[in-house]
Amino acid sequence: MVFTPIMLRQPAVILADFPQSEDDEFPEEPLQDEEPLRHEVGIHKECAEVLHFYRIFGAHGVIECLKCRVRIIVPRTVATYADLRRYCSESGSRRSA
Ligand SMILES: [Zn+2]
Repeated sequence: MVFTPIMLRQPAVILADFPQSEDDEFPEEPLQDEEPLRHEVGIHKECAEVLHFYRIFGAHGVIECLKCRVRIIVPRTVATYADLRRYCSESGSRRSA
């Protein structure tokens, strides 16, 4: 199943799957909605850089792009890509900031 990119924040912070290349020596496994968030959580679609995910003292999680310094805070309850997708769609509809 093809991974659908997740809109992390509006406008335009989109988490996309890793590019799948035939001649990549170490290709990333395609992302799955039901899997736990990876440390290298995906690709920041706007700048094509890797997004990193980490937890702060077992509390909330942070998704960060080291290139353009975008930071997205997610609650500790967000564990999988499906959780993230649900959280982002809910928070996106709650506020426009
Ligand atoms: Zn970026």
